[in-house]
Amino acid sequence: MSKRYDAVVVGAGPNGLAAAITLQREGLSVLLLEAKATVGGGMRTQELTLPGFRHDVCSAIHPMGAASPFLRSLPLEQHGLKYVQPTVLAAHPFDSGDDAAALLRSLDETAKGFGADEGAYKKLFAPLVRHWPQIERDVLGPLVSLPRHPFAMAGFGWKALQSGKQIAARFKTKEARGLWAGIVAHSMIPLSAQTSAAIALVLSTAGHIGGWPIPIGGSQSIANALAFYFESLGGEIQLNSPVSSLSDLPDARTVLLDVTPRQLLAICGDELSSFYRWQLKDYKYGMGVFKIDWALDSPIPFRSEACRKAGTVHLGNTFEEVAHSESQVWKGQHPDKPFVLVAQQSLFDESRAPAGKHTGWAYCHVPNGSTRDMTEAIEAQVERFAPGFRDTILAKHTFNTEEMQHYNPNYIGGDINGGVVNLAQLFNRPVLRFSPYRTSAKGVYLCSASTPPGGGVHGMSGFYAARTALKDVFGIEVHL
Ligand SMILES: Cc1cc2nc3c(=O)[nH]c(=O)nc-3n(C[C@H](O)[C@H](O)[C@H](O)COP(=O)(O)OP(=O)(O)OC[C@H]3O[C@@H](n4cnc5c(N)ncnc54)[C@H](O)[C@@H]3O)c2cc1C
Repeated sequence: MSKRYDAVVVGAGPNGLAAAITLQREGLSVLLLEAKATVGGGMRTQELTLPGFRHDVCSAIHPMGAASPFLRSLPLEQHGLKYVQPTVLAAHPFDSGDDAAALLRSLDETAKGFGADEGAYKKLFAPLVRHWPQIERDVLGPLVSLPRHPFAMAGFGWKALQSGKQIAARFKTKEARGLWAGIVAHSMIPLSAQTSAAIALVLSTAGHIGGWPIPIGGSQSIANALAFYFESLGGEIQLNSPVSSLSDLPDARTVLLDVTPRQLLAICGDELSSFYRWQLKDYKYGMGVFKIDWALDSPIPFRSEACRKAGTVHLGNTFEEVAHSESQVWKGQHPDKPFVLVAQQSLFDESRAPAGKHTGWAYCHVPNGSTRDMTEAIEAQVERFAPGFRDTILAKHTFNTEEMQHYNPNYIGGDINGGVVNLAQLFNRPVLRFSPYRTSAKGVYLCSASTPPGGGVHGMSGFYAARTALKDVFGIEVHL
């Protein structure tokens, strides 16, 4: 590695790839180093169970990809990326009867499904959907300057700072409350915590605008398209290249790290100021996940028709039950009836399984670092809403939080968001600082989900980190 580069990016997750592309697009020479044998980080697809069954190891459903101004700015279709939209974006079944609440692309149709809560749902989401094009860049970015549209942004911020529970008080029906609870639970903090509404507002609004799309061929297709585009611009990728110290790197004017604070400390702690090191040590990681993938003989036999047509199914029954199980996990317990997120990619993308067969993807939240096997609890939850499910299982593969972290060192203790998304760390991740992307070491930047806007496949953290480095080190201004 004796060659000199303008920039070296460490880690080829969505944010590392986004940073590398942003730098390379400006004509710099960029090297992207990835520890593992393939690019993608949280966007990989593998035959985890049986030959011909292609499972998304991590990310599966991509509302944030569709919502990302950065990803939308790239010609990824020319590099093989195609999405399919599920008929129902997300469904939420209940114990009582065969009904389920449904999140649809259409705001009006979704609201209509809530009966007495039609008006309340529209009142909550219609302004967000209307103003989204004006506020998306501010919502999905750092909080460093005055928003471009302060009034529209204040409308979002006022709702986003609330807890999921406070927003749920606007709804009376179990359908609206249940669906809302499942989407709030993506925040991986208690539903009663301030800002737990933020992620759900973004995911639901994004759904009404761009859907909750599924990449044909798996989330690896997003990773591959990003990597092909980067290489088409002249970028260089080296796989199987774990970086344990800045001294491992070839000479470069700037370094961007797609890692979380704990790894940042390990890789370049000596180069950081003692104050910044102290701040990083205080960074909090959140709940972990227990992940399961199934090879299935047939689709999951959900009782509810909406669930049988849904890309995503949230299993947790009522708002109260979801809130209870998430608060148990937050307190370090393993719920008997965990809230379970299920994805059914093969219903919409036949490349995922041999003809007539299917894949199932699911996870539940567990305490950070948990090694408890949650297979039985997850399968019992699926069986509860889809009797006969167990008979469809041909094979399965599981990941506890330790295995998840071994698979991807960014998932500390199984935390898939690169750090807890609470009030302290929603806007100021990893630390309170004018630019969250600049570290205290000159020329070294953090570009992972541990910076705003946080977890998810959107590449916005990578874009903003690269934009900061371009300005600081090369005097180049870029805008989206
Ligand atoms: C089970 C699960 C389900 C998920 N579902 C969704 C979903 O449906 N939709 C969605 O949008 N998001 C989902 N996510 C979250 C999403 O995958 C992450 O938020 C996203 O991948 C974070 O991107 P990143 O680039 O910051 O980090 P990562 O994607 O984690 O990438 C980091 C990369 O850096 C590499 N790396 C780390 N350390 C080093 C080192 N020292 N040297 C070299 N390379 C290194 C890693 O190997 C990895 O490739 C899910 C995650 C998991 C685990």
